[in-house]
Amino acid sequence: MKRNLLLSPGPTQVPPQICEVLSRPIIHHRTPQFQNHLKVATEGLKYVFQTKNDVYILASSGTGAMEASVCNLVSPGDKVITVEGGKFGERWTEICQAYGTQTKVIEVKWGKAVEAKQIKELLHAEKNIKAVFVTLVETSTGVTTDIESIGKIVKDTNAVLVVDAISGLGATDLQTDNWSVDVAIAGSQKGLMLPPGLAFISVSAKAFKLMEQAKSPRYYFDLRKAKEALAEVDTPFTPAIGLIIALNESLRLIKEAGLQNLFIHYARLAQGTRAAMKALGLSLLSDEPCISNVVTAVNVPNKIDGGKLVKTMRDTYGVTIVAGQGHLKSKIFRIAHMGCLDEYDIITGIVCLEKVLHKMGYSFTLGAGVAAAQKIFSA
Ligand SMILES: *Cc1c(COP(=O)(O)O)cnc(C)c1O
Repeated sequence: MKRNLLLSPGPTQVPPQICEVLSRPIIHHRTPQFQNHLKVATEGLKYVFQTKNDVYILASSGTGAMEASVCNLVSPGDKVITVEGGKFGERWTEICQAYGTQTKVIEVKWGKAVEAKQIKELLHAEKNIKAVFVTLVETSTGVTTDIESIGKIVKDTNAVLVVDAISGLGATDLQTDNWSVDVAIAGSQKGLMLPPGLAFISVSAKAFKLMEQAKSPRYYFDLRKAKEALAEVDTPFTPAIGLIIALNESLRLIKEAGLQNLFIHYARLAQGTRAAMKALGLSLLSDEPCISNVVTAVNVPNKIDGGKLVKTMRDTYGVTIVAGQGHLKSKIFRIAHMGCLDEYDIITGIVCLEKVLHKMGYSFTLGAGVAAAQKIFSA
């Protein structure tokens, strides 16, 4: 039987302890037993989000929570700011436009991060911006945004700051409250090591005020309903019962490891991965200081078919890395370091990458990538 090593930026590997919980028979949700699970989950999420705000759990993929933030915060015609430096920044624009906003887009070269001063300038130039939508880790390019600096700017305005932390949460620092993030969003299948199906959204008091005034149509994702229900330790609709119970195992594992230790762990995996790529003569799409510790985007070398590289690694050897998205589809490949992964998983990925690159005729010293990663991991 072939291995199935996921070095993809979602879904990530689900550890055995969580698989075990997922295999249990279902319980009913309108019961004290489930209420207890919901309470523990809601509290545990606050730890991972580093917030005292309520965190609502939705039954959807991460994008559902992105849509929830838009339809609850804006009214048709409202002015908002989005940042497009990759596929997921573009998604913010698309959702905002679907809800009829006047969307002011800051375009950033893919592989670079938006600078806080660009947002500051646009907030000054445009009056009455309702919300600023940014991405913590732009998964399509391996870039991390400096949310702390942006938070300092947005907090002194009437606008709310909304952060897509779907790929970053639990793997890289997001201090929701300290950095004045009004709405933070995550999904289950990335840093939280669960199957897809849950989305999470934290909402500040400032954001909730807007949600009470906003005039966009909403029903399933109406967070006013979610807030009312949560006050009764309940959900407005049938929750994804099994996933929420499994979430508590994930949150237990994260708490046991300690958030700060996890950030250090993933940073090390990223460092090892980057060193390996450089030792193989490969260049990275993004640079310091915005390079992400969650996913590494690597330029495909000349004359190598990036799609075939990814496909061979996956279908022949059982190691999943992913290609680029949008215009970078065949130009980069991406190796994630989030979720249930250790340095040996990364080493395995590098061994496999070397093998396939070698077979495809790319010239380098076999073992050079592994040696460079080992050096970091053994330091
Ligand atoms: C994966 C991802 C999403 C999309 O989440 P889905 O769960 O596929 O809806 C959005 N933003 C970022 C940054 C992501 O990495």
